[in-house]
Amino acid sequence: MTAAPDLPPRRLLLVHAHPDDESIVTGATMARYAAEGALVTLVTCTLGEGGEVIGPELAHLTADRDDTLGAHRIGELDAAMAALGVADHRFLGGPGRYRDSGMMGVTENTRPDCFWQADRDEAAGHLVAVVREVRPQVLVAYDENGGYGHPDHIQAHRVALRAYDLAADPAYRPELGTAWRIAKVYYSRMPRSVIEQGLKETAAAGGFPGVAVPSDVPGVVDDGLVTTVLDNPAYAGAKAAAMRAHATQITVAGDHFALSNDLGQPLLATEYFQLVHGEAGSALPETDLFAGVEV
Ligand SMILES: [Zn+2]
Repeated sequence: MTAAPDLPPRRLLLVHAHPDDESIVTGATMARYAAEGALVTLVTCTLGEGGEVIGPELAHLTADRDDTLGAHRIGELDAAMAALGVADHRFLGGPGRYRDSGMMGVTENTRPDCFWQADRDEAAGHLVAVVREVRPQVLVAYDENGGYGHPDHIQAHRVALRAYDLAADPAYRPELGTAWRIAKVYYSRMPRSVIEQGLKETAAAGGFPGVAVPSDVPGVVDDGLVTTVLDNPAYAGAKAAAMRAHATQITVAGDHFALSNDLGQPLLATEYFQLVHGEAGSALPETDLFAGVEV
């Protein structure tokens, strides 16, 4: 399986649930690989229509008022991608195909158009088309709990891993392109010791009314599960700028940020991953998602 000659040698695919997740969880990594000339492809599964809105000026956008937050967040995501230097961004099945499901247990979970209710194989088919087009060697996704239990994050995990399998099966929908096996699959992670220390520093900085707890943060695991550490200080500014672009969702203050709940968290330029499919390309921890990948 060789790549088409017009594709860059290194290709990274990230699957995220809502606009803003990509910047919070993987912003520095995306900026780094884009700057290094890799093809960075972001697939976002929903428009984040169910989000809350920070600040009174745009409060009318929310689902219980104008219900126009999704369209607004497309613009925020465009600005975030510009800040990260990432040109290739798609919404799964096209913008608005799958609606934000809201937090687990709310009535929006039962809307037939929401991502939580999506047929998994149909949703995965949209992603298979992207995989076979851009032929990534590396996929970054969430764990089976979606990192922290949000229905759209859980579904994003299921769809990403289903597409990973289906894309490699030559018998599956050949009209979507030539089968492609992704060499390495990672879950986004946050080592427990890192977030505990970071939250202490956020508390000491005192920039927000409250401070988050580790269970508010996606992907927290015991340090020993982390296989791969990307220390990206050169891209801290790009990550912060991308997070600021999601202004209805995120307030950035120095090295810290808060979501609409006003609970501060550390804004970390170092990002962490767990290799779950494929072989590590170096002694652990790896420092490059493409370690050991033939390009
Ligand atoms: Zn999200």
